[in-house]
Amino acid sequence: GGGVASDLPEGFPSVIPGWFSEISPMWPGEAHSLKVENILFQGKSDYQKVIVFQSSTYGKVLVLDGVIQLTERDECSYQEMITHLPLCSIPNPKKVLVIGGGDGGVLREVSRHSSVEKIDICEIDKMVVDVSKQFFPSVAIGFDDPRVTLHIGDGVAFLKAVPEGTYDAVIVDSSDPIGPAQELFEKPFFESVARALRPGGVVCTQAESIWLHMHIIEGIVANCSQVFKGSINYAWTTVPTYPSGVIGFMLCATEGPAVDFKNPVNPIEGRVGDKGELKFYNSEIHSAAFCLPSFARKLIPAK
Ligand code: SAM
Repeated sequence: GGGVASDLPEGFPSVIPGWFSEISPMWPGEAHSLKVENILFQGKSDYQKVIVFQSSTYGKVLVLDGVIQLTERDECSYQEMITHLPLCSIPNPKKVLVIGGGDGGVLREVSRHSSVEKIDICEIDKMVVDVSKQFFPSVAIGFDDPRVTLHIGDGVAFLKAVPEGTYDAVIVDSSDPIGPAQELFEKPFFESVARALRPGGVVCTQAESIWLHMHIIEGIVANCSQVFKGSINYAWTTVPTYPSGVIGFMLCATEGPAVDFKNPVNPIEGRVGDKGELKFYNSEIHSAAFCLPSFARKLIPAK
């Protein structure tokens, strides 16, 4: 036999009964799998299919439209990096907007910053918020902060209505660009973000995997270099349960006081508040996150 699927020998591990497998055209030819202990929730909102299951080794898992959004075991890496990379790069962030992020994890991280006075969040899908509050209390704890205002709606529309120069930082914690998040990767959206930021304000947006999505990243970089007149850098981190095990972030600043993303001016570590200690982020990993492998550095110019 030539090794095609139908020829696989008996006993060869292929589709595993009792395991969740993440299959998507965004990562053709591969499927990361987790062993399922039991299914805790299955629902369909106006926007997507929502699943929560208990895994054997990663705690509870939140899945939207077949794609893992977070697991209890490794969410710290994503939430801490997408939040502290932008907020530790500017002095005294006061007003912060989160787009997406309905699980509340980014809010939990933003609320560690004592300089922050106001946190708005615009999540399109109320079911994500409700499910997170029910099954992921240590993540949804972010909603309990009195500085937080939750808006249920489309982040694109929300940003269009924001008065110019409102926010010090915008964090776009979106799902993949197939489905309700598609517009969050397009140029008009980045233009609204730039308008909503004060001069020298910063945005950090979920920017996919250097192993799988170089074409998407190149598109984001091209859009952002046209829109943002300050610095533009790509950073990345490891998240074992995301496809290819890594996820990246696009960090941009508007014209104004210069922002040097690679050298944090507003360190957060050591401040143990009511959210407990940071598990992943520190100032060294902040700077290291901007070092790119050669194949990616060639395609992602920084400015
Ligand atoms: N925090 C997660 C993690 O650790 O990977 C990231 C995923 S977060 C749950 C992505 C959220 O973006 C989802 O809840 C989804 O409903 C929301 N979303 C997608 N499109 C949106 C839009 N156009 N406006 C606002 N929120 C959107």
